[in-house]
Amino acid sequence: MAAAESDREVPSALCTEFLNFSAKDTASKWLQVTDLYKEVYQHLASYVPKIYCLGPNLNPQSEDLLAQLLLQAPLEWYLCGEDPSMGLAKLEQNNQPSQLCGHVFRVGEPTYSCRECAADPTCVLCMQCFLGSVHKEHRYRMTTSGGGGFCDCGDTEAWKKGPYCQKHEPNISDSCQEVNSSQPQDPLAHLSTDMIARCYNVFSIVLKYAVDMLTWDKENELPLGLEPPDRGDTYYCMLFNDEVHTYEQVIYTLQKAVNCTQKEAVSFATTVDRDGRKSVRFGDFAFCEQAKSVIVRNTSRQSKPLRVQVMHSSVVAHQCFALKALHWLGHVIGYSDALRRILCQVGLERGPEGENSSLVDTLMLCDSKMWKGARNVYHQLFMSSLLMDLKYKKLFAIQFAKNYERLQSDYVKDDHDREFSVTDLSVQMFTVPSLARMLITEENLMTTIIRTFVDHLRHRDLQGRFQFERYTAQQAFKFRRVQSLIGDLKYVLISRPTEWSDQLREKFLEGLDTFLELFKCMQGMDPVVRQVGQHIEMEPEWEAAFTLQMKLTHIISMMQEWCATDERVLIEAYKKCLTALTHCHSGFTDGEQPITLSICGHSVDTIRYCVSQEKVSIHLPVSRLLAGLHVLLSKMEVAYRFPEQLPLSELSPPMLIEHPLRCLVLCAQVHAGMWRRNGFSLVNQIYYYHNVKCRVEMFDKDLIMLQAGASMMDPNHFLMIVLSRFELYHIFSSADCRKRYNRENTNKDVVQQNNTLIEEMLHLIMMVVGERFEAGVGQVEGCDQIKREIIHQLCIRPMAHSELVKALPENENKETGMERVIDCVASFKKPGVTGRGLYELRPECAKQFNLYFHHYSRADQSKAEEAQRKLKRQNGEDTALHPPVLPLFSPLFASLVNILQCDVLLGMLGAVLQWAVEPSGGHWSESMLQRVLHLIGMGLLEEQQQLENSSEDNDVSFNFTLKISLCGCILGPGEAPSNTASVLALLENLQNAHHLEVHKDMIRWILKTVASIKTIRELTAFTCTVTASGSHGQEEMVCDKDKAERKRKMEMARLRREKIMAQMSEMQRHFINENKELFQQSLEELDASTSSSLEHSPTSSDAALVCVGPRRSCPREKRQVVTCILCQEEQEIRADGKAMVLAAFVQRSTVMSKNRKRPPHDPEHYDPLFMHPDLSFGTHTGSCGHIMHSHCWQRYFEAVQAKEQRRQQRLRVHTSYDVGNGEFLCPLCECLSNTVIPLLPRAKGSSSCEQPGLGQWLKTSGQQIKAMHSAHRKLQPISVDAVEETVEEGCPAPEGFRVDYTPTSPYSSTIKEMLTTFGTATYKVGLKVHPNEQDPRVPIMCWGSCAYTIQSIERLLVDEEKPLFGSLPCRQDDCLSSLARFGSACWTAASQPSVQGHFIRLVAALIPDPQVETSPCILDIDMLHLLVSVVLSYGSVHSQDSSGLSVDAVQLHLFHLITVAHMVQILLTSGPEEVTMEQESEGAEREEEEAICCLYNTLRTHLGSSLPEVGSGWHLWRCVKTGILPYLRGAALFFHHLNGVPTPPELHALCPGQWEVLCGYLSLPSNLLQLYHSQQELLEPLLHGWCSHPSLRQTLQGGGVLVSFPRESNSLIDLPDDYSALINQASSFTCPKSGGDKSRAPTLCLVCGSMLCSQSYCCQTELDGEDVGACTAHTFACGAGVGIFLRVRESQVLFLAGKTKGCFYAPPYLDDYGETDQGLRRGNPLHLCRERYRKIQKLWRQHSITEEIGHAQEANQTLVGIDWQHL
Ligand SMILES: [Zn+2]
Ligand SMILES: [Zn+2]
Ligand SMILES: [Zn+2]
Ligand SMILES: [Zn+2]
Ligand SMILES: [Zn+2]
Ligand SMILES: [Zn+2]
Ligand SMILES: [Zn+2]
Repeated sequence: MAAAESDREVPSALCTEFLNFSAKDTASKWLQVTDLYKEVYQHLASYVPKIYCLGPNLNPQSEDLLAQLLLQAPLEWYLCGEDPSMGLAKLEQNNQPSQLCGHVFRVGEPTYSCRECAADPTCVLCMQCFLGSVHKEHRYRMTTSGGGGFCDCGDTEAWKKGPYCQKHEPNISDSCQEVNSSQPQDPLAHLSTDMIARCYNVFSIVLKYAVDMLTWDKENELPLGLEPPDRGDTYYCMLFNDEVHTYEQVIYTLQKAVNCTQKEAVSFATTVDRDGRKSVRFGDFAFCEQAKSVIVRNTSRQSKPLRVQVMHSSVVAHQCFALKALHWLGHVIGYSDALRRILCQVGLERGPEGENSSLVDTLMLCDSKMWKGARNVYHQLFMSSLLMDLKYKKLFAIQFAKNYERLQSDYVKDDHDREFSVTDLSVQMFTVPSLARMLITEENLMTTIIRTFVDHLRHRDLQGRFQFERYTAQQAFKFRRVQSLIGDLKYVLISRPTEWSDQLREKFLEGLDTFLELFKCMQGMDPVVRQVGQHIEMEPEWEAAFTLQMKLTHIISMMQEWCATDERVLIEAYKKCLTALTHCHSGFTDGEQPITLSICGHSVDTIRYCVSQEKVSIHLPVSRLLAGLHVLLSKMEVAYRFPEQLPLSELSPPMLIEHPLRCLVLCAQVHAGMWRRNGFSLVNQIYYYHNVKCRVEMFDKDLIMLQAGASMMDPNHFLMIVLSRFELYHIFSSADCRKRYNRENTNKDVVQQNNTLIEEMLHLIMMVVGERFEAGVGQVEGCDQIKREIIHQLCIRPMAHSELVKALPENENKETGMERVIDCVASFKKPGVTGRGLYELRPECAKQFNLYFHHYSRADQSKAEEAQRKLKRQNGEDTALHPPVLPLFSPLFASLVNILQCDVLLGMLGAVLQWAVEPSGGHWSESMLQRVLHLIGMGLLEEQQQLENSSEDNDVSFNFTLKISLCGCILGPGEAPSNTASVLALLENLQNAHHLEVHKDMIRWILKTVASIKTIRELTAFTCTVTASGSHGQEEMVCDKDKAERKRKMEMARLRREKIMAQMSEMQRHFINENKELFQQSLEELDASTSSSLEHSPTSSDAALVCVGPRRSCPREKRQVVTCILCQEEQEIRADGKAMVLAAFVQRSTVMSKNRKRPPHDPEHYDPLFMHPDLSFGTHTGSCGHIMHSHCWQRYFEAVQAKEQRRQQRLRVHTSYDVGNGEFLCPLCECLSNTVIPLLPRAKGSSSCEQPGLGQWLKTSGQQIKAMHSAHRKLQPISVDAVEETVEEGCPAPEGFRVDYTPTSPYSSTIKEMLTTFGTATYKVGLKVHPNEQDPRVPIMCWGSCAYTIQSIERLLVDEEKPLFGSLPCRQDDCLSSLARFGSACWTAASQPSVQGHFIRLVAALIPDPQVETSPCILDIDMLHLLVSVVLSYGSVHSQDSSGLSVDAVQLHLFHLITVAHMVQILLTSGPEEVTMEQESEGAEREEEEAICCLYNTLRTHLGSSLPEVGSGWHLWRCVKTGILPYLRGAALFFHHLNGVPTPPELHALCPGQWEVLCGYLSLPSNLLQLYHSQQELLEPLLHGWCSHPSLRQTLQGGGVLVSFPRESNSLIDLPDDYSALINQASSFTCPKSGGDKSRAPTLCLVCGSMLCSQSYCCQTELDGEDVGACTAHTFACGAGVGIFLRVRESQVLFLAGKTKGCFYAPPYLDDYGETDQGLRRGNPLHLCRERYRKIQKLWRQHSITEEIGHAQEANQTLVGIDWQHL
């Protein structure tokens, strides 16, 4: 590329210029000139293109350096009038910084707000300020910043309390000054006028330049004065960001358009996304133009094309510098508040074009045309200048408000996220209460916002109501942008005024007017008509309207709260709202015929209207706002104090209730199933209408409106209208309505419908009379309402904090107010290791329970009913759930109680009771009766309460008892009373009805209450003195109740219990049938565990138990019989029997690794024979312990395979297991498995003939090995050279050893097959290679897995502080036994010479063998692995031995030898002596100390100075004893499981003296040194051999990894107690690959503590030919495929296994309520829960992570579909 060459030359040319350049001279020249503007522009015109944008590969470092020297330095010189390093320092010194912190947040940085003190939730503190503030002791909220925004510390308007942290607290002396001068000082006072003038000049030129360039939209020209002296044909092809195209599209297109690699394309796309634009090609015009056309062509197919511009390099250069210049301005004003003020002044100075023409205006108005990067930079400058200066913040706010409409419109059209829009700054101004108020009064901001909002909602129907189009994703996107206006309105209203000026009143009411205009468009929108006949064809649109309603909910509440702070405003608002409502429903529309209704001699005029036939809408915001204001009239007592100012006479109660009533009837009809054909859209609307998010301004207000209307009406009239709207009038109006069962048996559905409607109507009446917890409706405090909500939630069941929060309405500050009252009504129960903390209702609150609580759904209601009845039964109380005692109504609503005793209601009650008396017919329902009883109960309680509260005279007009005892007929006018029974009589009648068993408690309670009221009335009538005696009398009455009553109750209870028991056992039977398998399993497990515990128990208690060697105890011969979980047949374990297998999961593991940095080996050539003591990689085998026939398993697995293939073809879905990789789920417990282990019988007991001593055996085995060497050589004719070198040709084999003998396998064919299966699986997984059953490494991997699994279990037992034996679940015992026995048999499935070869090499590591070339040094061998491998491989040698040598004897010799080697290993690696107090040793120990010193000194003679001198034997002996213990324990586990020897009871507990017992069990002297000293002459040469290994000295001197013993268990990393420390740590973490960028999903590896940049393109790497995310890649390096991470931003634990498996897991951080906060949504402070963290650690240590993932994926199928490898 030609261009690339030329840009090499320019810098050198520049260099000379640079050498001659003097910033000082330039500045002094500038001081002389008259037209500074022109001069500086010239300077920029000539230098900027020489520095910036000289080639395709920008070099920001040298650019910045040059810009600093050539461009910024002269400006600074000019500004300061001296050396800027001096001048700026002086400025800083003289500066008196403001008390604002103003720290601008990085993305992901933690921010803190105080729920108690913050003016609104947008007020936040940075971490530093928070830690130094009073709020850290308060109930604070923690969130992570989305970037932008700044710390509000020091802003007195933002905090009700504690506005300053310690750092920003004003000095007392300062504040005194401020008090004296009353006005804050002008920061300019410290500056000389000269300085001010210069500063002004520079700032205006630089800012103007920056604004010119950033708003410049020509691609090929520059503004006047900036044209470069010489312009070449150099262009950039500039790609801009949009939110339409995906990453993938952009990457793909770029690869095509500019021929770049995928990596480069990813980098381009990342930059475009971050900065908003990026040059993707540099060259001449045509070259760039060509790329542009390819990009446009490629991206224009589905949507509008990507924006691309071909721009001249000088334009780009100036734009780059313009950004730099803005940065510079921000930097310079940081030195001094004075400079900041000057910049603000410059920025807001009105330009030549007049209004809104300042530079700041220009920038704002061009905002949506700029690219992201430019916007970010200038927004930041605004924040650090205009918003930090109190004077100019106000002026800026005014400009912002003036431009508001235009800015918002630009934003709505733009497609960038809100955080990149200047409109996002609104939060910084509107939430400041004084500014907001000023903007309302002076700029009429409230009206502007609402008007702008309405202007953007254009869709109207003929009546002018909103009518939204189908709510598509794009619509939703647009709508969301419009909604940001609602957010702004919320900011403005969030703090309520404490004082009102006339102007504020005027502007607020003007705003309210506009708001009502909006509401008028919403009143009656989206009306529905009942569909009859067929289903609706298309679900009508409803979401948009509801979204609107939902978004406005808080605004509506806030408007009301504003009104509540000023009586005059309230009165005016009420009038306006009433006018609006009248306007909406001016008169009744056509078709609404007037009619007259009459019942019981009462009649009312209304209209004919059927909800089921005409249009009805759920949206009635005007009515509901009026309802809200009406309550306020009562609450603020305006209604009583200024009745003359209210338009009460204009109110028409029937008009008020009409629409809310229709809406409630609609809900009832939907419940009754009358609207089924209207589809889901209506169901959804009804759901949201009642939902906690909407109900405050929907359902609740409708109810209030009904209460308001009814309180102004004759109750009989009200009820008749209700009956009519419920379309039930005809049922209750007829004279013989009590005989409904006779007349109306026409259509079952209709009867059913009407029953439900009656139930719903009765419920509505209860609510109208009983819902008195809204302050203003009833005489209650504000907190009574929330208390009641909580009580009723907790009556359902105990709940967690977050559940309660979800069930309660939140205010605009996202607070429920629950904290204030929760402790009065509930007690907190802490969580355990799982689950969460729960609140339980205090028992004394249960009496406030109301079964018909208006916010219960039907499901809630029945759950609560059940729970409360159960509770009452438990407490031995009467189970009647009678209504609670209610608070009094406010005077305005007081007349509502009369509904209870009005004729129409009593008529209805009587009718329902009468129906219930006649059980046949089914024209009534139990819940109908239950409601009637409840209503009667309410009436009685009302009367009782009034009696108790009334002063002396019985002026209580409410006489419910009288009414219900009167003859209960509904009298038409002039009708003669017929002999119908009274309500009371009917109740007495019902008391004995058999079919009403459930309600008897309630009826009894009613009758009892009636009686006690009568007593009160009589008492008060008798002695009008003390009313309290009335209640006494009542109590006595209760006491006096005859014992027969109690007896009957007990009898009842017994009957009920029996019934319940019968039900229970029925349920249980059902359950067992359903879960047959499960029960089978648990029974089996029981069997298995009993059988194994028998095995553990010692055979003969006298003899000491020994598990290895010729003296080993013989286990009792016992047939081992197991049951196959698949076919349920029993099978004995025998070598020649059918194979039984254990489901198993083999996985690679690094859990015990002491060296995670060891590079992964080359799987094809790796020799796994010796395990390094660092245990860097191991193979772990686990099992769920479920046993199958091998053939049953094979059939099962084939079936799974076949099913999976079909499924994948059909659905292409993933599963939680990979069949292709041999994975399957255990058919019983669904535990992830990938192979099976065959079960084998244990080894036979030893023969008792004389066995050779160590010396004899060493000699024999040496001969055997030689014989094998030569035999093997014969098999390999190739190595002729080697043959020549050997010492003796054909050495004689020892007696009885037949090298040519090939033993026959003792196993049946199925067992042989399974031996191969498990061996191959271990080999495949452990080495990550393709299966190859012939590979000689197969047995090695099996032995390795056996040793590794034993070691990991041994560690686990230590960590869990459990005894060595008897504490493992039997599945692990079974697994270990089968692993050990499998290991001893696996040689039969491999080639004998190769296994013998392994044996020879293993032995050679201890006993030098000249024919084995490379043996590792003993420091590089893990001794337990060596022990297991050598013991298990010996079988292949022994099979050729017929001399009578017993396996046991050999095992013991090998074991002793390796034990000595391990002691030497420990001595070599034991560190220097720690300075400890001299320990006084016991006599017995002294012997050991001497012996150990002796051995150590022998080693020192061999090794000399490589070993430090150690004085005390005590230290050495302690090192050996602690260091060797894990090995001995491992060996004990191994031999126990291999030989099946019972374990000594002492090892089943953690008691002292374990060492001796352990040594005894292992056939070792408890002074281990005896092993060495008793055979010193035989062992000395070996010792010498080990010490003279060449790499030993090297390792000791630091040349290799030195592991010391005992190896400590690995733990997960330490986590900080406070979660915010982690957030903070993560927020400063930068992506390691994209130079200093913040990572979006910082993720912490809990195993090693690395922080990773997860879920991001930048950090993807290739793993086995696939792109994987940082976590997956790390998983393979750190955890051999298994990973445990903490996603810091999400507060979520992530488990990964392999590339396809993963799940999320509850984090170990809990809030004070004992709950996690996944996703950090609630923001409560989180603290580490150590138990939970330990639980995660345990999962990891016991290798259960993969299993956990499997279970999670099975339980939640969506987890399977996640692309885990990209995390
Ligand atoms: Zn701060
Ligand atoms: Zn602070
Ligand atoms: Zn606070
Ligand atoms: Zn079977
Ligand atoms: Zn299982
Ligand atoms: Zn790690
Ligand atoms: Zn990254």
